[in-house]
Amino acid sequence: MNDPYLTFVNSQFGRTLARAVGLPQPAPLERWQPGEQGAIGGPLLVGGGPLSAEVATIGKALAPLALGFQHQALPLEQWQPDSSPPIKAVVFDASGLRCTAELSALPQFFQPLMRHLASNARVLILGRLPDPASDSEGYISQRALEGFSRSLAKELRDGGTAQLLYIDEGAEPQLEGALRFFLSAKSAYISGQVLHLRPTTHAPDDWVRPLAGRRALVTGAARGIGAAIAETLARDGAKLLLVDLPGAKADLDALAQRLGGQSLALDIASDDAPATLVSALGEGLDILVHNAGITRDKTVANLSPDLWAPVIAINLEAPRLITEALFAAGTLRNDARVVLLGSVSAIGGNRGQANYAASKAGLVALAHALAPRLGERGIGISVVAPGFIETQMTDQMPFALREAGRRMNVLGQGGQPQDVAEAVAWLAQPVGGALSGQVLRVCGHSYLGA
Ligand code: NAD
Repeated sequence: MNDPYLTFVNSQFGRTLARAVGLPQPAPLERWQPGEQGAIGGPLLVGGGPLSAEVATIGKALAPLALGFQHQALPLEQWQPDSSPPIKAVVFDASGLRCTAELSALPQFFQPLMRHLASNARVLILGRLPDPASDSEGYISQRALEGFSRSLAKELRDGGTAQLLYIDEGAEPQLEGALRFFLSAKSAYISGQVLHLRPTTHAPDDWVRPLAGRRALVTGAARGIGAAIAETLARDGAKLLLVDLPGAKADLDALAQRLGGQSLALDIASDDAPATLVSALGEGLDILVHNAGITRDKTVANLSPDLWAPVIAINLEAPRLITEALFAAGTLRNDARVVLLGSVSAIGGNRGQANYAASKAGLVALAHALAPRLGERGIGISVVAPGFIETQMTDQMPFALREAGRRMNVLGQGGQPQDVAEAVAWLAQPVGGALSGQVLRVCGHSYLGA
């Protein structure tokens, strides 16, 4: 699936024409390439409050150059706007801002940087939420960071992204995993997100193969996003069981063979699917990815029962019943990770997708509902909500809708299956427990439901 407009406006002629007539110019996004080990492809700038010392220590190992800004006490060379190379990544620790007057530290820090960012720059703001009952001013000051970071994300150019991460007391060991993801090419299509890191189990020992020795099940793996998830989990060391419909068996078998995994032809919405999976996974499961999903788009006026029922059955009921069964049977091991594929349609609603949006909104609720119970055994459950991703599913959309879907986000383009797969693979790590019950959107900071 390609995007001819993106290719055109990034050609020499297309760039000149787009500038002359004022057409939008989405930037090519840098994505993780095989063999790439360094998390950050250029200078990292660190500043702000109490967490910045830890960020500086981690950052020195992740970036070719780590620099301090407005923070002389950090063990880093200070940034010199006129002589330093363009900045690839910025981390500002705003967790120490405790009153509204202190919020002015945000523009003071960022204003001087904005014209010195490299293309595809990554910005991460860290916060810490106090209890609103005992510290209301601290709480509102920290929540104000959401508006700042989301607006900053809309002002970045050239493929730049920005996120806000609230770090709970005790969640600091998850900081390295978060920096490795949000400051690298792995988060190319994620921007404007706000997440809460909570304390969870230890971090991976091996950052190159963080899922080594872990067993993963991916549904709907024969093509599209599911196939990309399978590739990425295998790259990160997981052993795979791949599931798809009997009609997709040839593609499924070929992928499983190439990745050294196993395949199982199964309709996940069939009555016996949960029991079949419990028996196929006798030895246990560490990573469960509910990716299989369908659309049957029609406006509510034309939504017949045969377009409603399968969408709810496959997208929502099957993940619920399978997760419950694998949990009840003890197949899901302690500290397992469950990732549900949602959609931004569920968050913003989408004309002609009431059935699909209902099923995906139900998945968000499923993560909320199960997180406490699964959490008692260290199991994390979260949702990855893609926006417009270039797959066969979106290739079938009418031209005008497809073009609108591609452009209605701050990055001005559709995402690739790899973008979603990177997010799933990241949540399959221990950090997935720190984000249990939450939704991570992979949508280029979509205007839909923003
Ligand atoms: P796709 O249609 O290309 O692939 C879906 C796969 O699921 C297919 O291989 C299909 O055979 C399989 N499948 C369908 N019903 C099944 C069943 N009953 N049992 C087993 N397998 C079944 O879709 P995609 O674009 O790769 O999307 C993957 C997931 O991401 C879906 O849940 C989708 O809703 C979600 N999503 C996609 C986009 C997008 O833009 N492509 C956006 C938001 C969310």
